[in-house]
Amino acid sequence: MEHKTEKRGRKSLPLDKKKPPQATVKINDFILPFVQELKGYLKNNLVTEKTLVQLFDVLKEKGDQQSSAFNDPDSVSIVTELQEKIHTLDAEKRLIERALAKRQEISLKLTQERDKAHLNAVHTESRLESLKSSYRLLKYDYDVLMHREHDCMAIKCDGERCTRPATLEKIEQSIVLRVCHQHAKIVEKYS
Ligand SMILES: [Zn+2]
Repeated sequence: MEHKTEKRGRKSLPLDKKKPPQATVKINDFILPFVQELKGYLKNNLVTEKTLVQLFDVLKEKGDQQSSAFNDPDSVSIVTELQEKIHTLDAEKRLIERALAKRQEISLKLTQERDKAHLNAVHTESRLESLKSSYRLLKYDYDVLMHREHDCMAIKCDGERCTRPATLEKIEQSIVLRVCHQHAKIVEKYS
C-alpha cells in the first residue's frame, strides 16, 4: 500500500538558497496595522537606522516628536532658514512702514498746502467781489458826473433833467449853459 506524506506550505528551498532563520513572533491585533505598515516601508527601503532610533525614542518617551524633530539636523536647518526668511521679511516690513509713514507725512503737507491755497483763492475771490462792487459804485458816480458835464442842462416839463447830449454852449448872464439842439431854441427864446 502506497503511503502518501501530506505536505503543507511552500516547498522548501534548496540548501544554498535558504535564508537565515527569522524570528517569529505573535503579533497582537492592536499593533498589527503598525507592524504591517513598517514592513511595507522596510520592503521599499524606507526604514533607516535613524527611523528606528526615532521610533524607539517615541516609545521610550525620551522626548516627544517635536523635540526629536528639533534634534534632527535637517529640521534644524529648515527652522534656521525659515527664521532667516522671517527676519528678512521683518526688515522689509519695517522699510515699507517707514516709507509709508514718509508718504503720509508728504501727503499731509500737500493737504495743508492745498487748504492754504484754497483759503487764498477764497480770499482773492472775496477781494475780487469787493473790487467789483467798488467798480460799480465808481462807474455810477462816473456816469453821473459825465451826465452832469456833457448832457443837456435843461429841465424838462416833468422836472427831470434832459438826457440828450449837449451840443451847444450858450452864455446866459455870464454863465455857460450846455444844451441840446432842442433846448437851445428855448434858451434863445428867453434871452
Ligand atoms: Zn435838452
